[in-house]
Amino acid sequence: MSIIVEYLLQALFWGVIFNFPLLFIIIKLKLLTMPGGILTGATIAIMTYIVSPFLWCALLAFFLTSSLISKQSTPQKQMITAEFSKDSTRDAIQVLSNSLPALLFGIMFLSIDFFPFIEKSGNFSFLFVSPLIYAAFASLATHNSDTWMTEVGISTSGVPRLITDLKKEVPKGTSGGVTLKGTSAGIVGSMIISLIFLLQLLLHSNISLIHMIVQFIFLTFAGTLGGLIDSFEGATIQGLYYCEHCQKVTERQIHKCGNKTSFLKGYRLVTNDLVNISSALFSGIIALIGFSIIEGIL
Ligand SMILES: [Zn+2]
Repeated sequence: MSIIVEYLLQALFWGVIFNFPLLFIIIKLKLLTMPGGILTGATIAIMTYIVSPFLWCALLAFFLTSSLISKQSTPQKQMITAEFSKDSTRDAIQVLSNSLPALLFGIMFLSIDFFPFIEKSGNFSFLFVSPLIYAAFASLATHNSDTWMTEVGISTSGVPRLITDLKKEVPKGTSGGVTLKGTSAGIVGSMIISLIFLLQLLLHSNISLIHMIVQFIFLTFAGTLGGLIDSFEGATIQGLYYCEHCQKVTERQIHKCGNKTSFLKGYRLVTNDLVNISSALFSGIIALIGFSIIEGIL
């Protein structure tokens, strides 16, 4: 049996074993919709485990911390989320838009770096680090940063300002609105994912500590930048609608009041899901370049 098939079978086995109990928790806490969100989530989780157990830990950290932070609700926040977006139980499309970029970089990592490496070395006990896996972590860091920015931004005090014009104050929940507390939370969200990458470096790499810390800081930066790009796209190209009945701006084509909204600005094709995907891909590419530069210098 080829070593690649051997690796895939072993990773699939452990991926199923580790993800199975989690499914029960996710169903119990109603974090994903049934059955679409659950089936998509399980498939993504097992595929991510096959790419890298560390990336899977990062996916789990993103999913659990962002779900818990989304579930923390104040009456004010409930009103805002009902108006601007969907509720905190993620559906299949949301699961995909929050995991496909990382999985894409992960699959590239397997085929371009990891499989040739294990074929040459003859074993896969040594999990090595490459720019492509770094990019996959940056994509997840972007999603986590974006979720933390949004959730903390709308739950705490502080008037949001438009990311494209910081002098302009906007209502809470406006696409592209940023606050100081929200942005600080976004840095923490990105840092949580970067810490798991740092752990992988500590366990499976022989580079110097200073080198590891530089990689960690740059990863946190790339994830936060991705979160800000997400807000920037929200303020510029994302499709926004207007409800005549309530006189409110919304991301929804059918407003919470049940009335059909009219197109206001941006591009109709650029939905919130597309914004999530593109900002994570952007952050991944920044991380790819950054990783190579850091490797070149240190
Ligand atoms: Zn309305």
